[in-house]
Amino acid sequence: MSDEQATTARKNAVTMEKLVNLCKRRGIVFPTSEIYGGLGSTYDYGPLGTELKRNVKEAWWREMVQSRSDVLGLDSAIFQHPRTWEASGHLENFTDPMVDCKNCKLRFRADKVAGPQCPECGGELTPARQFNLMFKTFMGPVEDTASTVFLRPETAQGIFANFQNLVDTQRVKLPFGVAQIGKSFRNEITTENFIFRTREFEQMEMEFFIKPETGEEEKWYRYWVEFRADWHVRYGLRADHLRRREHAADELSHYSSGTTDLEYLYPFGWGELEGIAKRGSFDLDQHARASGRDLSYFDEDAKRRYRPWVIEPALGVDRAMLAFMLDAYDEDVVENEERIVMRFNPRLAPIKVAVYPLLRKGGQPEKAVAVREMLARHFTTAYDQAGSIGRRYRRQDEVGTPFGVTIDHQTMEDDTVTLRDRDTTRQERYPIGALVEVLNGKVGWAAA
Ligand code: ATP
Repeated sequence: MSDEQATTARKNAVTMEKLVNLCKRRGIVFPTSEIYGGLGSTYDYGPLGTELKRNVKEAWWREMVQSRSDVLGLDSAIFQHPRTWEASGHLENFTDPMVDCKNCKLRFRADKVAGPQCPECGGELTPARQFNLMFKTFMGPVEDTASTVFLRPETAQGIFANFQNLVDTQRVKLPFGVAQIGKSFRNEITTENFIFRTREFEQMEMEFFIKPETGEEEKWYRYWVEFRADWHVRYGLRADHLRRREHAADELSHYSSGTTDLEYLYPFGWGELEGIAKRGSFDLDQHARASGRDLSYFDEDAKRRYRPWVIEPALGVDRAMLAFMLDAYDEDVVENEERIVMRFNPRLAPIKVAVYPLLRKGGQPEKAVAVREMLARHFTTAYDQAGSIGRRYRRQDEVGTPFGVTIDHQTMEDDTVTLRDRDTTRQERYPIGALVEVLNGKVGWAAA
């Protein structure tokens, strides 16, 4: 299948519009400040989106930090000393070429316009000039140059700036990684495609420090590319919607000697999902020079000091959510009725189990409430007694709830319930007392 054919097939499966509608209708994603007419491509996550986001971050954090012995966690400030950005090269290099239309005044990224004319009105465009993507603000009561600070455009620099603290306090031995999750800000010239590119977003980044040797670098670079690709597939991306693309020499960032993008097949075509970059010792060297600190590591075995090299996998939380939602989205027919079903990996599903009384009488609602309370101590739950049972199942299918527990007349006799599977729609009977264990086996981390 060519790229073009694949894109067409993708478009037919799920359009961005369908997903955006579902997200709005069910409280997954809302446009920010909608009551004031919105604030250009800024989004808020509703109750279900908030759960999904937490689950995506947790899936990353558990696998990148908690379940490994060679990675530490960090949570550095959004504001860093302004010299950080001078040293990292962001003040000088973190720019996109921008052109203005002399007629309608719209602004475009020069590399995104095809010809010399304005794509909107056909007007004449100015020559390209560099536009810095960092947001500026002032720290403290005085608004002058001395108090200018920037909102971080990536989380990575907080890790490099803490390198000495980590080495001094954590008894680390190479190779080791330092990971963090947090908000980043980029004053993108054009935002696009729902939560794919926004000006405020969250990143999950890890700096993996290694011995400064070519063989080590190549080995760990390949390791992280494969580890990250595998993670995406295990949590729900279709393997044929993911590809690895090496950057050509002329597209590499100022700090990188090699980068592989994991690209995902969005409805609008292939686009970056995550980047895995070789950063060498660029950042530590720069900060050492700018701060006058050593920022080196003492290799006990080799009895020498050096600055480690770095491999960095960097992923956007919001972009990952978009990809997981796109691949989860499905439409099928159950009992002659069309349904939308989000086939989320159970670990990512916002609600793990919904509880329903079949009838609103005979003690069933009270029993269902009690079962829900028991399950809520272990899982995110929903309770629904409104409308036909079929309608209630559809409502949960649409937001990807993997399991449903139904209380029926038999429950009132023998304390068993049915457990319905979202994907197969099949039901099995279990004693209420076994539910937590059964569900743990299906949605717990051990099942991931
Ligand atoms: P792009 O080429 O799409 O602008 P980039 O190469 O500048 O992205 P990186 O600096 O490598 O992106 O950032 C790492 C990850 O952070 C990206 O792979 C993406 O998932 C996420 N990301 C970057 N910019 C944005 C943004 N404006 N909105 C949402 N996510 C973003």
